[in-house]
Amino acid sequence: MTLVCFSHLRWDFVFQRPQHLMALMAHEFPVIFWEEPVWDPAGTEPAVDSHSPFANVTVVTPRLPEGLSAEAEAAALRGLLDTWLAGSARPLIRWYYTPMMLSFSRHLAAACTIYDCMDELANFRFAPPELGALEAELLAAADLVFTGGHSLYDAKRTMHHAVHAFPSSVDAPHFAQARKAGADPADQAGLPRPRLGFYGVIDERMDLDLLAAVADSRPEWSLVMVGPVVKIDPADLPRRANIAYLGGKTYEQLPLYAGGWDVALMPFAINPSTQFISPTKTPEYLAAGLPIVSTAITDVVRNYGTLNAVSIAATSEAFVAACEHALAQAREPDSAAWRRQADAALSGQSWQAVADAMRTLIAQIVRPARVARTGHYDYLVVGAGFAGTVMAERLARDGGKRVLVIDRRDHVGGNAFDHHDAAGILVHRYGPHIFHTNSREIVDYLSRFTDWRPYEHRVLADIDGLLVPMPINRTTLNSLYGLKLEDDADTAAFLATRAEPVDPITTSADVVISKVGSELYETFFRGYTRKQWGLDPSELDKSVTARVPTRTDADDRYFTDTFQAMPADGYTAMFTAMLDHPLIDIELGTSFEEACARVSYDRLVFTGPIDEYFGYRYGKLPYRSLEFRHETLEQEWLQPVAVVNYPSEDVPYTRVTEYKHLTGQSAARTSITHEFPSATGDPYYPIPRPENEALYKRYAALVRATTDVLFVGRLATYRYYNMDQIVGQALASYRRHAAQLSLASELAADTRAIAAE
Ligand code: FAD
Ligand code: UDP
Repeated sequence: MTLVCFSHLRWDFVFQRPQHLMALMAHEFPVIFWEEPVWDPAGTEPAVDSHSPFANVTVVTPRLPEGLSAEAEAAALRGLLDTWLAGSARPLIRWYYTPMMLSFSRHLAAACTIYDCMDELANFRFAPPELGALEAELLAAADLVFTGGHSLYDAKRTMHHAVHAFPSSVDAPHFAQARKAGADPADQAGLPRPRLGFYGVIDERMDLDLLAAVADSRPEWSLVMVGPVVKIDPADLPRRANIAYLGGKTYEQLPLYAGGWDVALMPFAINPSTQFISPTKTPEYLAAGLPIVSTAITDVVRNYGTLNAVSIAATSEAFVAACEHALAQAREPDSAAWRRQADAALSGQSWQAVADAMRTLIAQIVRPARVARTGHYDYLVVGAGFAGTVMAERLARDGGKRVLVIDRRDHVGGNAFDHHDAAGILVHRYGPHIFHTNSREIVDYLSRFTDWRPYEHRVLADIDGLLVPMPINRTTLNSLYGLKLEDDADTAAFLATRAEPVDPITTSADVVISKVGSELYETFFRGYTRKQWGLDPSELDKSVTARVPTRTDADDRYFTDTFQAMPADGYTAMFTAMLDHPLIDIELGTSFEEACARVSYDRLVFTGPIDEYFGYRYGKLPYRSLEFRHETLEQEWLQPVAVVNYPSEDVPYTRVTEYKHLTGQSAARTSITHEFPSATGDPYYPIPRPENEALYKRYAALVRATTDVLFVGRLATYRYYNMDQIVGQALASYRRHAAQLSLASELAADTRAIAAE
């Protein structure tokens, strides 16, 4: 696969969205960055220049003789492009920043065509008249349309079936260098403080009158303008003693300049050329720790207008006043509330996250050809969830074994898989997964592959519109019944008046009714459980509802484990790190049967359903399934906590999850999932009840009689286990197995020694 990017912005112009994204896309595909031509004297032969500014990125600049007609130019470019691409890996991904380049590339066969629309180019000065028609053609040809901001999204969303807003992001650590005291660049060092700075392209989007007015009204301020001047006559720039035009600088130098400013400026004109812009410099300035004064650019107001770090001003008087305010902010200490608020707004934003989300969308269109593995492995691991991944990691890294991991799904992670959705929000495909454990050993093991984001899970139950803490605690009872229970003793006494003794406690109904009585049981447990399991709690083992305690204090955390956290970059990143080992091969989208036809192996680790492995010999083990309905809402938040439970049987779903609470990500929109329990679908939950346990025992007897197969995981051991328990189970299985192997090899060595005697 090769990605060809057609860009009207040159790679070496300003380091912007195309460069960020292409440098990251190059981790996955070779990237060819195709620029506009440069002109040689008439009569010379068309040719190309190329250089590689980043690993796997090749910038190609055509050289054409001057004086070509439009048709001859397109023909020459098409010839150069075809020649250049002749040796490139197929299929191609075409990625357009400008529709104009369709004129010489429309013939290319591509597995995916993307229009990454950064600006409303037709509104720009000197926009060619054919741009509109070419954009329509590109929209018709594109599989995906990305927009650089929300205003552009609103403008394009009705024009294509797959438009996704990806506002420009920020490499926060790069710009945060501005916060450290560094040497002032030589051309800035002589400028008196305070300094109010701008960096970026200086063109028709700049409000030159505003710039002049600010300079005139405060001669003691230095206005520092960093960036190339294009499309406008430099003679039109306001010239003042206190405005310094320092010219273009490299991306690497920008934090050095910003580090010497007190306030960052965005003095954009409000005109058609700025109607849709979403200036990348906004989050960059914030990452640099600067307060910002901007004119009322729609996307700045929309995405950042509520931050105290950002002042918006419509007139030059208001702009000057806003600069005064920002200068006062700049004098506040590093710990100032406005900076903390800005930092919080930026947390979770990265170009990497944007590129990941884009790649997920591309992958849905370009199904990569599966690498079908062949040959011999020491171990075949069926299933790339927690069980399979821990086993593979241990067998390879600790045991030195060659392992093939397969999964019938097209991703690793099993039910814990997470990914960035089309809105760029990290979501869990199979419902919310919160990591919690009391085992130091398990935390230590997983911490080799991930950092953690501390997170304590809180759940509210929706009782006829009233949101109350779940598990039931003192606050729940006070809210529900209008009580004023004050301490544990009060609360325990209240619950004692409600509890209905049950002896013996065997079912999921018994365990709750014996603690809180029938009314609370019906309000919180009966309906939820009937929906979730398709069974009445009286038909389920007590272990199911016993997972949810009742509390007499006001602790509203869902779990009380000593360690509660989310993997800092998500579960999938953690799984990828675990499986990243030269002795591990991975084949996704492949079933056990398919793999068996191609590879041989000495031993098997099976983490799929145990009844499936044995061909349902004794009949099917029951599993409960779920349907997940994922959606993104055009609002920042939906609910106050990550999960709201809906215990009523009048509501068809059990709970709604809002992921940003789990991950700490900030975004203008929010992604949520409704869970609808179902009898059919992927097996998620083994159903704990006596007859199922009896059936499982019969399969377990077959397991004991099966040599060279290790059965590990929720499905293979038919256990309603959490992630940490599965990790613990897998680590223990590996240890036992490794011990047996070394015993076996000692025995084999002894046997050989005896035979030799
Ligand atoms: P899985 O994750 O199910 O992985 C098994 C893999 O094997 C699957 O990817 C499957 O495709 C593959 N497979 C099966 N058969 C075959 C075959 N024949 N060929 C090829 N591949 C095959 N735990 C927590 O600790 N905290 C939580 O908050 C939490 N929330 C949960 C929410 C939901 C909705 C669900 C369903 C579970 C939740 N869990 C939670 C439990 C957690 O998901 C499991 O403990 C964990 O994922 C089990 O890992 P596993 O490897 O055993 O199984
Ligand atoms: N449960 C319930 N009401 C709730 C939450 C849970 O009845 O508001 C019951 C339900 O039977 C559920 C079980 O308690 O399956 C265990 O809940 P938990 O949140 O531990 O389930 P998970 O989603 O983690 O499997």
